[in-house]
Amino acid sequence: MRVRFAPSPTGYLHIGSLRTALYNYLLARHNQGTFFLRLEDTDQTRYVPEADKKLIQTLKACHLDWDDGIDLNEAGEIVDKGDFGPYTQSQRKEIYQKYIQELLASGKAYYCFCSAERLKELRTMQQNHNLPPKYDKHCVNLSPEEVQAKIAAGEKYVIRLKVEGNQTIEFTDLIRGPISINSNDIDDQVLIKSDGLPTYHFANVVDDHLMGTTHVLRAEEWISPTPKHVLLYEYFGWEKPQFAHLTLLLNPDKSKLSKRQGDVAVEDYLAKGYLPEALVNFVALLGWNPGDDREIFTLDELVKEFSLEKCGKSGAVFDLKKLDWMNGIYIRQLSEQALVDKAKPYLLEYLGDKKNQWSDDYLNKVILVQRDRLNKLSDIASDDLSYFFNDDLNYNPELLVWKKSDKEKTTEHLKSLQSELTAYAGEWSIQALNDHFIAWIKEHGWNNGDVLWPLRVALCGQEKSPSPFELLWVLGKEKAVTRLNVAVGKLS
Ligand code: GLU
Repeated sequence: MRVRFAPSPTGYLHIGSLRTALYNYLLARHNQGTFFLRLEDTDQTRYVPEADKKLIQTLKACHLDWDDGIDLNEAGEIVDKGDFGPYTQSQRKEIYQKYIQELLASGKAYYCFCSAERLKELRTMQQNHNLPPKYDKHCVNLSPEEVQAKIAAGEKYVIRLKVEGNQTIEFTDLIRGPISINSNDIDDQVLIKSDGLPTYHFANVVDDHLMGTTHVLRAEEWISPTPKHVLLYEYFGWEKPQFAHLTLLLNPDKSKLSKRQGDVAVEDYLAKGYLPEALVNFVALLGWNPGDDREIFTLDELVKEFSLEKCGKSGAVFDLKKLDWMNGIYIRQLSEQALVDKAKPYLLEYLGDKKNQWSDDYLNKVILVQRDRLNKLSDIASDDLSYFFNDDLNYNPELLVWKKSDKEKTTEHLKSLQSELTAYAGEWSIQALNDHFIAWIKEHGWNNGDVLWPLRVALCGQEKSPSPFELLWVLGKEKAVTRLNVAVGKLS
């Protein structure tokens, strides 16, 4: 088995393209096949500078590796690795020329000199008569002499596929089953454009043949041109690969996943602090399922489980809430060091110029106590955390009073807390603080809520936060005592 991912460098890596790349990767690795990367850049008008490099970097960030194809060298330049190059289509012009000559010689392709105006008129006429847009074979019968004369006169031309009418074209899609279409419904597709470069259809078939592709696994949008590709394989007398087309990715309202409704660029998700492992796990489940209700998979586990038989036929909904949930699970699996390393840049950016006011140790602690509340790493940069960096807590004093308590009791508890904390000489860890103060509350016969509620509010000014002991651990004794003092003052 040999499969490929063949992106066009037209911008960022779309989340749907990540899925295509991932499924090809999984298919190859599951079957001990090879996976290669080809750059389909024949549409020069859509080329976005650096998009090719970014594609490679993003695939690498997601830990998808490939056996041959384009890659980056140490200097960050695109190079070919492997025996089937060049892997960039714009460098394969002579190869396409050779094969188009073959088709011209066997009468399976022909020169077309029709002007843009003529084609436009034709389309308007077809639209007015409710006919499908299709070239009318105007140039199909030009004699070799006429063709030569026109070329000699410098007329612009394209080369088209010659589709014989009334034939049945069949192929089996490994996800969707047998597909059959009458050739009358197929256009005489342009194979070579007037700039001399091939169209996607021609280059794709020639390259998949020359590069030994056995399985073409790609997005749904390519299913309709596949009969043209099948015809090309037949015209050349080449064995055709097996085809499988993935389903559409949908927004929760079932419309096609689009930029308008949110991010679709993998880079943007990574930049927000979605972990590549979580993103890959999430994307794997968009159109494939393991046959039971398991949802958390490492890449290796996916390799073991993946099969085309378990790829669905209906569209897969991209549910951001589920991605957040899954990413949270992966964040909680990180080691403390890894979490700190990954989240720190977001926190530093949030703090901006003020970042040097706090020690590394302090910032690390802030990150660690937030772990359970992070869906993505950038959540660490939230204004809700300002109590760690700002001593002036602006809260309503009434918030200090627990729902089953009153002002007097609250004041008393805050004062007791203040002296107990001042005297505390035990270990400064979340667990030790927890054990000490819970036992202390019990000793006095107090209610936990009546003490811990005002403690939390005094320390952070909010109803929701990490536990009061986590807050104590981060803030340190001195700050905590000061804040308790301020709270008492607010109630008097
Ligand atoms: N260049 C095409 C794309 O970006 C590849 C389609 C295919 O895999 O054949 O979608």
